[in-house]
Amino acid sequence: MRVCWFDDFRLGVAADNFIYDVSPVLDLLPPPVYPAAPGDALIAHLARIRPAIEKLLPSAPKLMRSAVKLRSPVGNPSKIIGTPVNYLKHVEEVAAQRHVFTEARKGSITDQGLFLKSASGLIGCDEPVRVRFPERRTDHEIELGVVIGRPCANVSESEALSYVAGYSIALDMVVRGSEDRSFRKSIDTYSVLGPWLVTAEEISDPDNLNLEISVNGVTKQRSNTRFMILSVARQIAWASAWYTLWPGDIIMTGTCEGVAQVLPGDTMHCTIDGIGSMDVAVAAAEPGAIHNQWERAGAPAH
Ligand code: MN
Repeated sequence: MRVCWFDDFRLGVAADNFIYDVSPVLDLLPPPVYPAAPGDALIAHLARIRPAIEKLLPSAPKLMRSAVKLRSPVGNPSKIIGTPVNYLKHVEEVAAQRHVFTEARKGSITDQGLFLKSASGLIGCDEPVRVRFPERRTDHEIELGVVIGRPCANVSESEALSYVAGYSIALDMVVRGSEDRSFRKSIDTYSVLGPWLVTAEEISDPDNLNLEISVNGVTKQRSNTRFMILSVARQIAWASAWYTLWPGDIIMTGTCEGVAQVLPGDTMHCTIDGIGSMDVAVAAAEPGAIHNQWERAGAPAH
């Protein structure tokens, strides 16, 4: 099943170029409490409410995919975990351009460890990436996005995939430079997740998926997740040895070779096998504007 949020956080199911509005099932989610456990309520309860979604689908109103604005399929992740230098050919391009990639000095993936991106930088595919600091390089990194479905800690590699709710296309956008990686990757709009969440049972092998990104029609990155140095299961096991993973936590599993700069006006076309495709626009940041999906969705202020 392809689950999405669209427009002002309506719940949808994507199929055959349509989005089916199944928002009435949101009434089955528990009422919010304060303080809430970390994590995303929809993802935490998705397995439980899925029969109700399937029951509603035949009579659900449908809209053309092109007529809606897709939001991030995870509304409120507690954290976004990044896996650095996880494709050998990307490691090589980083090493060859040390003046751009300061990470090259920090060793292998296991030397560097995982990193965290701010959850507040997250958007869906129909909102533009807003380039900050246009005098510096903002790069695209296409990655397989893994969404955790159940709380877990210290899971074994053999059990790890059973904790996955589903998969999405992820863009780990970054301003290049010498500051800490989390600082440069946590900018508003610099984490894109979309176009929807494909539930885990539809992806039989996350470690064998073609992924590709083109910018303005020119292919920039094209690889397959089988070239990841650490598999999806190993990343989950490793992350869960350091942090409790909560429903809705996102792991961006690392990018392949071909990372390159984007500029306002560009369009990034992203595809991953079994998930789908999405076009993501690049725009200039507007001084003083708040660029996050919750503000623009009209979410109530706290
Ligand atoms: Mn990355």
